[in-house]
Amino acid sequence: MTENTTDVLVVGAGPTGLTLAVDLARRGVRCRVVERAAGPANGSKGKGLQPRTQEVFDDLGVVDRILASAAPYPPVLVRVGPVPVWRMRMHKPARPTDAVPYPMVVMHPQWRTEAVLRERLAELGGRVDQDAELTAFEQDADGVTARLGGGRSVRARYLVAADGGRSKVRKALGIGFTGETREEERMALADVRAEGLARDRIHMWARPGKGMVALYPMAGTGSFQVLASLKPGDVPLDTVEWFQRLIAERSMTRGVRVTELLWSSLYRVNIRLADRFRAGRVFLAGDAAHVHPPSGGQGLNTGVQDAYNLGWKLARVLAGAPDALLDTYEEERRPIAAHVLGLSSELYGKKTVRRDEETYQLTLSYRGGSLAGNGGDRVPDGPVELAGGSRARMFDLLRGPHFTLLSPDPAPRVPGGPEVRAYVPARPYGGARHTLVRPDGYVGIATSSAEELAGYLAMV
Ligand SMILES: Cc1cc2nc3c(=O)[nH]c(=O)nc-3n(C[C@H](O)[C@H](O)[C@H](O)COP(=O)(O)OP(=O)(O)OC[C@H]3O[C@@H](n4cnc5c(N)ncnc54)[C@H](O)[C@@H]3O)c2cc1C
Repeated sequence: MTENTTDVLVVGAGPTGLTLAVDLARRGVRCRVVERAAGPANGSKGKGLQPRTQEVFDDLGVVDRILASAAPYPPVLVRVGPVPVWRMRMHKPARPTDAVPYPMVVMHPQWRTEAVLRERLAELGGRVDQDAELTAFEQDADGVTARLGGGRSVRARYLVAADGGRSKVRKALGIGFTGETREEERMALADVRAEGLARDRIHMWARPGKGMVALYPMAGTGSFQVLASLKPGDVPLDTVEWFQRLIAERSMTRGVRVTELLWSSLYRVNIRLADRFRAGRVFLAGDAAHVHPPSGGQGLNTGVQDAYNLGWKLARVLAGAPDALLDTYEEERRPIAAHVLGLSSELYGKKTVRRDEETYQLTLSYRGGSLAGNGGDRVPDGPVELAGGSRARMFDLLRGPHFTLLSPDPAPRVPGGPEVRAYVPARPYGGARHTLVRPDGYVGIATSSAEELAGYLAMV
């Protein structure tokens, strides 16, 4: 048996685990990612990247690569058989503003989002151990020992379960996953190549008594993502012929020819939230902590935000900050996940495709929590006038793993405290003498008291 040690063991190399690994790697935290699958995943699954996720990806240094092949959602054409009945846009077109540089949801297949994050992780010196399934683990006062397939084991200070909706870690901890599975609401999902379909729109066909099928031209690829409702008794097959028949039946046309099936899966609507996100040295993140209906495109995005909230806290506690900082992960993220679940199931129930500020995840706030002080809101981008007449953009000041202080005074010295980059604004930012922005881009504290500021820095 070989035993390795690391600071953080991340279980699962989906979007949540990879985002966390990138964030930890850029902070110089020793981290290991173990993934059960033999190689990278290839499904387009969670394809909508929300504006807030794009901001996180900007901070992590990957947004340009993602936007290079992503695209806004094209219009939707809904037809009953050959008859067009409705044209609509899922997202209203919007231009970047000072405060919101990434104003639109963009389409980007999940496999490619994961590939970009893997590439970034490699640049930062990290990697994913494939074919490395976590089979069991125990924790004690100092750390977690994880057993992997093949008799290997890893000893880590902390373990983060980013192992998806069926999380083995969550089950082993006996943490409840409260909510519902709508057994009767199943969908067939696939990535296909097809002929006879324009790529400038999303095609949706509804056939009374048979069900619906939608084909999304997947941005940056030559393929379409197929989403089809299933009736009780439908048994989807993993073949070109099965999807060809399904599309012909629902669209009542023979004009669409499926030429290749790249990936397929069966999807059951699940709406569930873990009762706890932390058990000692183990944390749940992403689908392991909350699963969503596909409407609203919130699943992947909420997992990315979990990782972004947890990464800096793990790094700080490993550097000596009080353990209580890690309790704020569940305190901040669980209510948000609960809210998002309410939101996405509401959207699903209505079968609508409403998109607004809330689904963009820009207005989510940690206000009122123990780590929020009087802050908690996302800091928008925008021009900042600095003393001496220079101008900067807020996101340029925030980009990186540090805290950012906007204050006429230098940052207070706190032994063992975090890295703080201080800037002197021409006018007090947001009205307070000192505004400290957390590494995840939310206001930590806005205060006129130097003591309160120092107290906050000691806490983190
Ligand atoms: C079929 C399907 C279709 C979806 N469609 C949409 C959609 O249209 N829109 C949307 O927003 N979201 C969609 N989602 C949800 C979205 O894909 C998820 O929210 C997102 O993948 C969650 O990311 P994650 O990293 O938390 O978990 P996952 O992506 O599930 O990643 C978990 C990883 O952990 C690995 N793993 C599991 N157990 C172990 C173990 N014991 N040891 C090591 N590794 C392990 C798995 O192999 C996997 O790679 C879909 C999900 C599925 C399954």
